[in-house]
Amino acid sequence: MSAGGSQPQPITLAELSTMEVDVLTRVGPKKLEGLRQMGIESLLDLLFHYPRRYVDRTREAHINELGEGEEALVVGRVTRADSQRTRRGRTMVTVEVEDRSGRLRCTFFNQPWRERQLDPAVLVGEVAVFGKVEIFRGWRQMTNPVVDLVGDRTGRIVPIYPQSDKAGLSSWELGGWVEQVLRRSEKRTLADPVPATLVADLGMRSRSEAMRAIHLPESMADMASARHRLAFDELLRIQLSLVRTKRRVEATSQGIRHDIDGDPADPLGMVGAFVAQLPYPLTGAQERAIAEILTDMASPVPMHRLLQGDVGAGKTVVATAALLAAVQGGHQGALMAPTEVLAEQHAVAVRAMVQGIDLAAEDNLFGVRGVELAVLTNRTPAATRRKVLAGLGDGSVDVVIGTHALIQESVGFRSLGVAVIDEQHRFGVEQRAALRSSNADGSVPDVLVMTATPIPRTAAMTVYGDLDVTVLDEMPPGRQPITTTLAHSDTEVAAAWDLVRSEVAAGRRAYVVCPLIEESAKVEASAAEDVYEELATGELAELDVGLLHGRVPADERRAVMEAFREGSLQVLVATTVIEVGVDVAEATVMVILDADRFGIAQLHQLRGRVGRGTAASHCVLVARGDPTEDALARLEALVRTDDGFELAEVDLDLRGEGTVMGERQKGRSDLLLASLRRDRDLVAKAREVAFELVDGPGGLERFPLLIEEIDVLLAEVDEEFLTKG
Ligand code: ADP
Ligand code: MG
Repeated sequence: MSAGGSQPQPITLAELSTMEVDVLTRVGPKKLEGLRQMGIESLLDLLFHYPRRYVDRTREAHINELGEGEEALVVGRVTRADSQRTRRGRTMVTVEVEDRSGRLRCTFFNQPWRERQLDPAVLVGEVAVFGKVEIFRGWRQMTNPVVDLVGDRTGRIVPIYPQSDKAGLSSWELGGWVEQVLRRSEKRTLADPVPATLVADLGMRSRSEAMRAIHLPESMADMASARHRLAFDELLRIQLSLVRTKRRVEATSQGIRHDIDGDPADPLGMVGAFVAQLPYPLTGAQERAIAEILTDMASPVPMHRLLQGDVGAGKTVVATAALLAAVQGGHQGALMAPTEVLAEQHAVAVRAMVQGIDLAAEDNLFGVRGVELAVLTNRTPAATRRKVLAGLGDGSVDVVIGTHALIQESVGFRSLGVAVIDEQHRFGVEQRAALRSSNADGSVPDVLVMTATPIPRTAAMTVYGDLDVTVLDEMPPGRQPITTTLAHSDTEVAAAWDLVRSEVAAGRRAYVVCPLIEESAKVEASAAEDVYEELATGELAELDVGLLHGRVPADERRAVMEAFREGSLQVLVATTVIEVGVDVAEATVMVILDADRFGIAQLHQLRGRVGRGTAASHCVLVARGDPTEDALARLEALVRTDDGFELAEVDLDLRGEGTVMGERQKGRSDLLLASLRRDRDLVAKAREVAFELVDGPGGLERFPLLIEEIDVLLAEVDEEFLTKG
């Protein structure tokens, strides 16, 4: 296309994604099939097949200079590999590696496949061996060293690629093809979608340089700066698509401009009246949160806000303020909870809080009426349900609290002004979307998502990147800390039951949480029944013990909760149905059985059921047997702190990003280099830049290459996630 003499255009990722690997030399039909099996079809796939590790030959040592106890890297040829059985029945593979200076013996225990992998008869080129040097009978040797097949690749830093035995492709073959792609695109260079001035401001390298250096680094520092740039690009793509979606929704949907200021004769309004009549002052964080929400609601752009607050931070008050703000302007409010127990709890709490708050009413002699509140779950009897639905349709019901029953098609609102969704982690994005499209006139209600599962800030930016975030980072005053202990031994477990008995004797109450059984609700229920039987006839025989699990019918469940709340039941044996929202201030002890089976977030949620009153509380994590190292690390984190955000960071460290990314981990848009855990600063930076680019003059349209990359690289999975969110 370009006339002679003009510079060729830099090559784009989109272009590379349309070029198939069979254009490369040394890719025959068999290799092509192997590559396909590894999911590598285009030149782009190949470039994105980043090295797993690098062998840094600048640190290479000569075998004859190795000293005892030293950690060393040796590169050489294998001269011998054979295996034998030890007396204890383990396989032991012995391998000899030779460099120009001498010989090293490597011993591998329980890795029988090493014999074939390192067979000198078939091995091509050299191997790199890294490990601790021992000297035994004059031999320098290593036990279970890390081994990389270097092949005949040269260079100071040798990239080691994820290879596939099944596909019959080795690290060095893959590396060779990658090198071909780099060489062929050298002249045109890779297009950099980020403006050069911005790249310079960020102190980063060009895309072209970075892509070359990640595959063929001159030094480890060279590799690190390349990785930094490419990881940033990955995060930027995600942030751009999130921010762009967010702005698009804001621009195209018609929100409700809530009348927050209310009647001049009544400047406090319903929200003000509500706050004034609370038995306690708001925390600073609650005040800030309510102010932010009211500002959002007053604006014509639909609110899409996440309220994060640790267990007990007082989110319900904030939610109620939002509901009332909608009601005050003649709209309705909905509060959706993930379980019936929780919906019922919310209904009790909200009903008590809005008691005595008046609402202007024209059709009424006094000109005012109370707030009309209804509950709707799948267990709501048909007749009541009909009445509630009618009330929602004609607007006589102001606030409805319920479960996902609220988003069924038959539910129509006269004018839903705000939807509050509690405990977002239980709901899918589809449900969020359903609530947002509840109004017949097409107006989009404001949405407030509440979660008590703190997630690290940078993870929130990615997972909830299309939401604004408010954090309730302050606890109501007077909370007693919860002392958390581990119980491993029988004596320690017995001490836990002592504690339960003595707290109950002092007029307090206790929870016993049953082991988590993921098999089925039925199995879990019957296991809970067993625990209940055992305790009620054994350790806790003197006490009034109740049982709660997912299969207890609703009426009975309500009765049990009520009995526990008022104290006729002193101990509640329960499954995780009590995980969220249950609020009984007199409960001061929680014993969690098989705590090692639970995740950090879940334990933290559970523990939040105690420590809600003014008395000091206790949580005993029972882990009998031999918990895994990870489980122990989780439990120890809970013992160490009750700060949910700190625990969320620990969780991220222990489990990696899969946990927070969830569904998004799939598809081509995988974060290949970037890690939400290691690259926290980079996530924040990418988000900042994304806003800059999307909101800047001319918008993202000014950067067609970025748009193209988002389109090519963020697969349908994501597109769906983003638009539904
Ligand atoms: P969350 O839903 O965030 O876990 P809740 O809204 O259930 O927390 O509140 C926990 C408890 O704290 C409730 O008993 C509530 O009445 C009380 N509470 C909320 N805000 C305050 C405050 N500002 N001062 C004192 N107590 C408060
Ligand atoms: Mg709550």
